[in-house]
Amino acid sequence: MAKSRSTPIHLIVMLLVTYFLCTVGKSNALACPLPPELATKLHVDQVAVDSASSDYGNIVHSKPAAVLYPSSIEDIQRLVRSSYNCPIPFGISVRGNGHSVNGQDMARDGVVVDMKSLRENKHGIRIRVYKNHLFADVGGEQLWIDVLHTTAAQGLSPVSWTDFLYLSVGGTLSNAGISGQTFLHGPQISNVYELDVITGNGELVTCSKRNNSDLFDSVLGGLGQFGIITRARIALRSAPAKVRWSRAFYSNFSGFIRDQERIARGSQRDVANYLEGSLVLDNGTPTEWITSFFPPALLPRIMSLVKKHGIIYCLELTKYYFLDDIASEIDQDLQQVFKDFAHVPGFIHAKFVSHQDFLTRVPNVENESLTHPWQNLFIPKSRISDFNSGVLREIVLKRNITTGPVLFYPLNRHKWDAKSSAVIPDEEIFYTTSFLHTGGIDNWQVYDDQNKAVVRFCEEAGIKIVKYLADYTTIEEWIKHFGSKWTTFRQRKAQYDPKNILSPGQKIFNGI
Ligand code: FAD
Repeated sequence: MAKSRSTPIHLIVMLLVTYFLCTVGKSNALACPLPPELATKLHVDQVAVDSASSDYGNIVHSKPAAVLYPSSIEDIQRLVRSSYNCPIPFGISVRGNGHSVNGQDMARDGVVVDMKSLRENKHGIRIRVYKNHLFADVGGEQLWIDVLHTTAAQGLSPVSWTDFLYLSVGGTLSNAGISGQTFLHGPQISNVYELDVITGNGELVTCSKRNNSDLFDSVLGGLGQFGIITRARIALRSAPAKVRWSRAFYSNFSGFIRDQERIARGSQRDVANYLEGSLVLDNGTPTEWITSFFPPALLPRIMSLVKKHGIIYCLELTKYYFLDDIASEIDQDLQQVFKDFAHVPGFIHAKFVSHQDFLTRVPNVENESLTHPWQNLFIPKSRISDFNSGVLREIVLKRNITTGPVLFYPLNRHKWDAKSSAVIPDEEIFYTTSFLHTGGIDNWQVYDDQNKAVVRFCEEAGIKIVKYLADYTTIEEWIKHFGSKWTTFRQRKAQYDPKNILSPGQKIFNGI
């Protein structure tokens, strides 16, 4: 009885899904036969479609024909195979946690796979820590915040992080994953031992530096083009007990970068486990970034320093310490380092916090009435002073519209694997800068204009910047972006996703 009652409902749902896809999905797909196992997991209703039509940037909006809420890796494989076997394949994008800012996780008229349903799976969290081997096997859908909590419970920690942890493992490994640990340990993509990946024909492949190494290299920093990451084996170390967290202000750009580079190059390596930097601009009241860190008594002095110089630069470093370490010795080490540094005397502050409090310093705030016209760039060290004078002073300071944090810190090229798909400048030391603007729904274009002016200035001045989390929309721009890596990138695409199914929101191969 039960069987004869459920079959028609099952069929009706399937027919409705197929009908909707056939009529609404332009590209096709949807004349494609879809496996019955997906019938209840593929949603075409307005709520589902709207949820996958926007992202954290809130600037690009693009509707998929349907959203898949998988409950297993096999569901994702089934979807990819359906597209692969279809006469006109449809695009499939993975939405890790939707924190792209330019629609990279969308699939116009295709299918978006919402990884949240795997995270919330009744079978439990897919993070397994191998304490003796110092690694964790983590589902590609997992958020780094959960990786932190699960590994910390065993006294361990990944070595390389992002500043903000409500990002998915698959999402950051498709880009690079950078933060203040990158100068020392490389980006997150340099700290992965093995991956499980669903390629563009629906095959599930395990890959590492030893096994299917070409696929492994392709996927890391591969912008979702070669496969869907379903598991990553992440390197772990002992978690520090506490962190000594310091920030010091500079009025002088050359002193600021000299001191940052001393740490990045290793002459002060023992002193810092984390190195970042940022700008404070003279545009009104102190931001939360300042008020939450510095003692209230220092705030008026900081603001008058900013007023006087227009921009001040902030060097930020941490020193981890373990239970056996003696706090006063760490303090002495730091005092020793800062003694030689060129920061403004008296404009320094340090505090002890727990490792977890430090890593979770950026809160998870979502507001659908805001836009995030962000721009992240890598800049070769040889032109960093030109960038300061031409971009920071001439464009950013003069326009005086910047609303969010501006990050600015050096990275070491040799910590990045040249075989991965990630693109970085040719020089050993390069800087990363992030303009993390927050705009309203109607005024994001002013920030976008500024972002474009920055790129234009660099092009005219011959500063070979590379965009991180790039937002290009034409094949010519992508070819230029990848430079000498383009031929390999294209060949790998032909090999692992020959029907151009995966990650259409990146707008790389859609027009080819
Ligand atoms: P999504 O936006 O959902 O996806 C990003 C891309 O990866 C898409 O093309 C998607 O299709 C693909 N993808 C997602 N999951 C998978 C998977 N499992 N397999 C294959 N492809 C997949 N970046 C840093 O490096 N350092 C930072 O400190 C940092 N901080 C950030 C803070 C905030 C508030 C935000 C919004 C972004 C930040 N980012 C940072 C950028 C972030 O790393 C990228 O935007 C990342 O793509 C977002 O992760 P997500 O999981 O939401 O991915």
